[in-house]
Amino acid sequence: MGGGVAEAAAAGREAVTRERFDAVLFDLDGVLTDTARIHAACWKRVFDDLLERRARARGEPFRPFEIATDYRLHVDGRARLEGVRTFLASRDIELPEGAADGPPGEDSVRGIARHKDALVDRAIAAGEVAFFEGSLRWLRHLRAAGLRIAVVSASHHCAEILEAADLGGLFEARIDGQVADARRLAGKPAPDTYLAAAAALDVEPARAVVVEDALAGVRAGRAGGFGLVVGVARHGDRDALARAGADLVVADLGELLP
Ligand SMILES: [Mg+2]
Repeated sequence: MGGGVAEAAAAGREAVTRERFDAVLFDLDGVLTDTARIHAACWKRVFDDLLERRARARGEPFRPFEIATDYRLHVDGRARLEGVRTFLASRDIELPEGAADGPPGEDSVRGIARHKDALVDRAIAAGEVAFFEGSLRWLRHLRAAGLRIAVVSASHHCAEILEAADLGGLFEARIDGQVADARRLAGKPAPDTYLAAAAALDVEPARAVVVEDALAGVRAGRAGGFGLVVGVARHGDRDALARAGADLVVADLGELLP
């Protein structure tokens, strides 16, 4: 059994080479940064606020937003507004879409997204975003080997997070929430944002690797016909990522360093 583990590790280290691939497309939250933790905590604050007020108004028990289930299933990896709609639908809650510039704290899809965004802005400004060391080491190794690198994220904070850490220069292309909005690209689990990144780098999807920690993102990589989908299981969800279509699952990208 120990031999099997060693062989699997060796296969992982040889999975992404310059001979086999031209580019590696990284998700941001949960893959390069621990912003997934910040996003999850901010979503919990805004949804619990809503759920608690509704429960009180209706005399029903308050069932909080659970990061282990609600966040993973309905919000993680999805575009912001889509995450709000998907979670609300899971609780049979109907809210208006709301105006893009409505009042803060308004109970609408856009109002909830805006409130959450403000909490995330505060956390980024407070320097709460940390990068995973193993991810950066592997990314720098890939660059040195001649692979091209892009970041593909639903986040609207992608550029500011990379710039705050002085890491923007590592990426030749960035397809984030702002770019997706401007170009009307469908969010993950649709493959469109990953395909846009491959096109921006001028590489064939079959010659590109997708690296993801969210089920929606792994499905996007699979749907796009990419050459390899690497799942990053930070939550002990190896099997779920593999079932969603990940070819290879690691707990930390540092495991892929030769
Ligand atoms: Mg992610």
